[in-house]
Amino acid sequence: MASDRNTPEFALERAATRFVRVLLDDSGSRVFDYGVPEGVAVSPGCRVRVPVRTRTLLGTVLEVTDYSEARGIRMVSEVLRSDAGMNPALLKLAAWMADYYCCPLELAMRAVLPQVIRKSEMTHQQRQRVRLVQLPEEAALAALEKKAPLQAAALRALAQAGEPVSVAELARTTDASHAVVRALEKKGLVRVEMERVERDPFRNEEFVSSPALALNAEQGVVFARVCASLEPLAEGAPAPKPFLLHGVTGSGKTEIYLQAIQLVLQQGRSAIMLVPEISLTPQTVERFKSRFAAQQQEVAVLHSHLSEGERHDQWHQIRSGRAKIVIGARSAVFAPLEKLGLIVVDEEHEPSYKQEESPRYHGRDIAVLRASMERCAVLLGSATPSLESFHNVKQGKYELLQIRQRVDDKKMPFIRIMDMRNESKKQGGIISSRLMTAIEQRLAKREQTILFLNRRGFSTSLLCEKCGHVCSCPNCSVSLTFHKAANRIVCHICGHLALAPSKCPECKDPGIRHQGTGTERVEEVVQKLFSKAVVKRLDADVLQRKEAFRETLSAFRTGKIDILVGTQMIAKGLHFPNVTLVGIINADMGLHIPDFRAGERTFQLLTQVAGRAGRGDVEGEVFVQSYTPFSPSIQFARHHDFEGFWDQEISFRQEWDYPPFTHMVLISVRSPHQARGELSAQTLAKSIADGAPAGLFIGEPAPAPLEKSHGEFRFQLVLRTRTVQRLSRHLRGVLDKLKFPEDVRVSVDVDAYQLL
Ligand code: ADP
Ligand code: ZN
Repeated sequence: MASDRNTPEFALERAATRFVRVLLDDSGSRVFDYGVPEGVAVSPGCRVRVPVRTRTLLGTVLEVTDYSEARGIRMVSEVLRSDAGMNPALLKLAAWMADYYCCPLELAMRAVLPQVIRKSEMTHQQRQRVRLVQLPEEAALAALEKKAPLQAAALRALAQAGEPVSVAELARTTDASHAVVRALEKKGLVRVEMERVERDPFRNEEFVSSPALALNAEQGVVFARVCASLEPLAEGAPAPKPFLLHGVTGSGKTEIYLQAIQLVLQQGRSAIMLVPEISLTPQTVERFKSRFAAQQQEVAVLHSHLSEGERHDQWHQIRSGRAKIVIGARSAVFAPLEKLGLIVVDEEHEPSYKQEESPRYHGRDIAVLRASMERCAVLLGSATPSLESFHNVKQGKYELLQIRQRVDDKKMPFIRIMDMRNESKKQGGIISSRLMTAIEQRLAKREQTILFLNRRGFSTSLLCEKCGHVCSCPNCSVSLTFHKAANRIVCHICGHLALAPSKCPECKDPGIRHQGTGTERVEEVVQKLFSKAVVKRLDADVLQRKEAFRETLSAFRTGKIDILVGTQMIAKGLHFPNVTLVGIINADMGLHIPDFRAGERTFQLLTQVAGRAGRGDVEGEVFVQSYTPFSPSIQFARHHDFEGFWDQEISFRQEWDYPPFTHMVLISVRSPHQARGELSAQTLAKSIADGAPAGLFIGEPAPAPLEKSHGEFRFQLVLRTRTVQRLSRHLRGVLDKLKFPEDVRVSVDVDAYQLL
């Protein structure tokens, strides 16, 4: 047992004069006091191994004190190496999150310190390499060839390489298994050596350095403001005000981020660049890696598709100070950098910054908070700022910076709205006749087209025309989506999947019909219409193959694809100069849903997708297809009118006392038993109302819009407040006291984004 190895160092019975308050891993939020042996260095954030009954467990030091009221105190068994722990600033951040988001501290800590670091004292991976020692004489080799052809082949390959080769590589090129290598080693023909390697997901790539561009006038003004806030702060001076950079798509915001980060590095400080997960494309990473390649600056990359080993190594690269720039998705806001100078949050309006499981933190809000705690600059950027951030500008909390022109005065794309009510239903009403003509023109000119639809699959549901039966999920209250290539019907909520029926499962009538359209169908229809064009699709289904994303994007970039059909995956951040046409197949999709942000999201999505067009020398054109063409979100997006949109949206929010005027807290109650769930939701609502802080609005407990999911019935309760922390504490008190039936699960989402 590990503890046997570690305990003897410390005398257990010795009276301690220093104590630590330790939060144990994976044990709710239990905190215990332990004594610290004489001469052992320990500070808040340190990871320790401590005795609990007969075992030893890992935990995090919250506090170091010189007294403890606990009785029967035991001593800390081991303090782990300091680079396995959290720095105190991050510890403070975790505590704040637990308090604000009403979640156990232990969960908040898990978000801040990656599991792979917490769990392991895993060292760098040891990779085996084979070194050729001697090649037997030709005769002996010929004999070997007869008896053990694989061994001989491996030897010849090694001789040819003339340098050490990894075992894995040898296995790839010659079929030499580990057994073959071991046999050769036994005969003394090769030597196996262990080598320490860093697992770097970009290890096979070269980055050509790209120098900073000369900023244009508008960029220059913005950059100067940002630089001013990067000046070292005087003692006791407050943190600089956060910036909100509102710059249209293609206005050169990223260039400003790059140059600001450059400056921060020159000051010997570090920077975090947050981007939404889906725009963390190879293209984005490459742009950063190549800018800083010349200065030999390591750029660490953090996102959710790293292997455990890669995440481990990237984290240590940051923690050790070797990488001073971190680019990553939401959780990169917790990167353990020291001397932080700047945090950039690109596309700050993106809902994907919100984590949808506890702790349900918002990456942008945490960025602003961390910046204020560490007194560094923070720059939020977007072509379509969130109502929350723009409201903060109006309140004087953020400073607004603006870029109104695209780089090189490139024109904003021209947006046409197609009223689909007037279109023939020939192609299932998928492509309007004018969009069709526009695609034809692009094909003739060898320019590229993007077609956007935010729903994967072939059709959204299968409907029997005779009896009206719709194939729906047994676990969730949604219809099953038909996926044609796989000939399956799939639930997009829980993943339930079944063979697609050829006749109605209910009345056995063969007249089963597709309703609604997904990307797979768009791809098929478009391919039929333009049989000579190369049409490819990019959505979560295609992405099941890991390399598909990179391959498709690079094929598109090099002009090997004429028409790219995709979901929101292709809506953000991509820069393809030869794309002159964007078609939005159905702009209404996200509009008519029971979410007060529906209008805001539609405006943002349309603007972002439209922004993919005309980024090169030719002006772009965008076709927006809609059955409700006069919706304000569509009309404001059409006219590139953010301020107009803001004015009308903010008065709607004010009228209803919705965010950003209040914070919305969503409490969900789930249970496989409908009645039990409902009753629990009602009990909860009453208990919350009891002694609630002043000014709290409590809605009626009601079934969630998605009433059933994963086999559970869902009820929800919406709260609105101006003072989150007070409410969170009240909620925690209520939840600690209430005892729900075992199969009832309750979760709290502060500043909720997902209301369905
Ligand atoms: P945004 O982030 O606002 O969408 P980007 O920073 O991606 O805009 O800029 C769009 C394109 O313009 C990129 O290809 C970028 O290299 C180029 N660009 C940005 N700033 C300049 C500049 N000052 N001079 C020339 N090209 C620029
Ligand atoms: Zn389901």
